[in-house]
Amino acid sequence: MTTTVSTSQAPQGGPGLLQKRTLVTQIPGPRSVELHARKTAAVARGVGVSLPIYVQAAGGGVVLDIDGNTLIDLGSGIAVTGVGNAAPAVVSAIVDQVAQFTHTCFTITGYEGYVEVAELLNELTPGDHEKRSALFNSGAEAVENAIKIARHYTGRQAVVAFDHAYHGRTNLTMALTAKSMPYKSGFGPFAPEVYRAPLSYPYRDGDLSGPEAARRAITQIEKQIGASNLAAVIIEPIQGEGGFIVPAPGFLPALADWSRANGVVFIADEVQTGFARTGALFASEHEGLVGDLLVTAKGIAGGLPLSAVTGRAEIMDAAHVGGLGGTYGGNPIACAAAIATIHSYLDDGLVERAQHIEAVLCHDLDALKHEDARIGEVRGRGAMIAIELVHPETREPDAALTSRVAAAAHAEGVIVLTCGTFGNVIRFLPPLTISDELLHDGIAVLRKVLAHS
Ligand SMILES: *Cc1c(COP(=O)(O)O)cnc(C)c1O
Repeated sequence: MTTTVSTSQAPQGGPGLLQKRTLVTQIPGPRSVELHARKTAAVARGVGVSLPIYVQAAGGGVVLDIDGNTLIDLGSGIAVTGVGNAAPAVVSAIVDQVAQFTHTCFTITGYEGYVEVAELLNELTPGDHEKRSALFNSGAEAVENAIKIARHYTGRQAVVAFDHAYHGRTNLTMALTAKSMPYKSGFGPFAPEVYRAPLSYPYRDGDLSGPEAARRAITQIEKQIGASNLAAVIIEPIQGEGGFIVPAPGFLPALADWSRANGVVFIADEVQTGFARTGALFASEHEGLVGDLLVTAKGIAGGLPLSAVTGRAEIMDAAHVGGLGGTYGGNPIACAAAIATIHSYLDDGLVERAQHIEAVLCHDLDALKHEDARIGEVRGRGAMIAIELVHPETREPDAALTSRVAAAAHAEGVIVLTCGTFGNVIRFLPPLTISDELLHDGIAVLRKVLAHS
């Protein structure tokens, strides 16, 4: 038997929701359990769900489920709702646009929103050179297009990605992604001419400095591929799904310098790190990195599907007319949402807010690390912070503990996500609109469940 969840009396989402963790049933509650059974019967198994509650409304720093439970959101739908869910300015921009028109296909007949998003990206991304942008739907689609553009511009084919990289789930981006399970296993063959180089991973590569780690990667690239065959180097300034790995200082600039000297297009994949998330508008800024191309998506449009490639005009303009595009890329509703979202990052102090969240989270997590040696490292920047859980004596990754802690936190009403090549990282990606009280409560829950796990 199935029931339809009534939304007639539904509470509105947005920051007006009660900002307090409140559980009125077990997690998941009965209505979620019922809906999850429908999901299992109707939705392909491969589309997994980490926390099977079903959402009624969300905003500020909380998610309200259909059983009436209010959970603390330390995930933002994977770093998407930086401005908060159902942020009022974004909602009203969307509503206004919906009433005007919903679609024309920008490559048939244009509209101002698309152009305005491109102008904003060109202005706000690092570097004061002349830029162009192109808009797409998902992070993976934008990454694919960045590679297409780099290949067309250079006339070369090879692409280098790094250990622990995550760039998406389409065929080319699966090839770029490092981790087999669950992203790639059984889904090959993968796109050719993709090579992998070693990353800088300070917690796990001893005393290797950033420049030394870059030298190691560059030597491998030169010997195994040859710079003259290489179209692009693509890297996340902080690895996201790979475990929130912040490379040692100097690693990224050395790679970028080598790329420039060798005519290789340097692509910064800022899909997860972009838009105030790391306490700067873009994570590249922390090391003065100016990539040739910069890929954005997740945080760009308050939850609407939109992505972009922004970069040097001569590279972006290399592809012929008609060579780039797609039916929905830069959809007018998504563009209206993006304009409101980007202005919110700039005007509502959200970059500073991300810096503040870093201070709050790191304060609480560092204290926890002193109490519990299984926390090997607290790392990250801004509102992109993680703990790596290990067996203390050996530093071996402890994925089992990580799953137990995440599940126990979920049961207590805290949405946390895991990540990492070894599955042993818990990451914190709260909306930038979350209150300090919710952050402290979330970490207090973590302390409690860790002690019992
Ligand atoms: C999520 C992510 C992608 C893929 O974005 P989708 O919108 O899921 O296709 C690419 N790169 C990075 C760094 C990501 O975090």
